[in-house]
Amino acid sequence: MSRRKLETELQTWRAAGKQPQVWWRDDDAVSLTPQLKQLTHLTGEAGIEVLLAVIPAHADQALADHVGQYGNLKPCVHGWSHTNHAPASEKKCELGAHRAMDIVLSEIARGSQRLAGLFGPGLAPVLVPPWNRMRDDLAPRLAEIGITAFSTFAHKRQYPEMQANTHVDVMDWKAPGGAAGKASDRLQNELAAALAVSRANGFYPVGLLTHHLVHDEVAWSSLSAVLAHTDLNWVSFDYALEQHGFT
Ligand SMILES: [Zn+2]
Repeated sequence: MSRRKLETELQTWRAAGKQPQVWWRDDDAVSLTPQLKQLTHLTGEAGIEVLLAVIPAHADQALADHVGQYGNLKPCVHGWSHTNHAPASEKKCELGAHRAMDIVLSEIARGSQRLAGLFGPGLAPVLVPPWNRMRDDLAPRLAEIGITAFSTFAHKRQYPEMQANTHVDVMDWKAPGGAAGKASDRLQNELAAALAVSRANGFYPVGLLTHHLVHDEVAWSSLSAVLAHTDLNWVSFDYALEQHGFT
């Protein structure tokens, strides 16, 4: 039934004379792994650009060599070392207000410099804060260290001119027994719901979020099912950033 729900939503876009647009972000890249090869194969064949959030402290040359070979992977800065600095009573956060602003900024700058050394000019000046959260006052300071945009996970954007977010996560992080891929029906249901929010707020591109290192077979299969929808128009992060929507 969920496939029908997504089809219905796509028909509603068509009736409005709009093309549903989707962009793809993948997090936690560190090295060339079988899972990264699978992601590259899946998205490369479909000609989809992936904003690849790379953990600077752990990234290696094999990752850089692989990204250099495949033009559809666009590396960007995923914090510094994906270390939680929040107390146990709070949600995990690396770039929060738990440490001084100068320390947070210098850590991101360090990450950006290390990745620029690995990826060269192909590195996007974009920050993806680990766990999709960062201190509220950080965004206006990012330009000081050469970061021009950022991406989290929410429909609402506090800084729309420099923020393109993701809205649909292929993983269920709270599944009984640990993180698990969402079944195809559920993922398409959530994609339909996200497209409906976008449609009600200016038809902005919807962001799909993946974490290749933890995908199970269900996650890969559900992603393939999403890719089978020929009415979805895949766009780049930069394109998504240019679109104005929910603020
Ligand atoms: Zn992450």
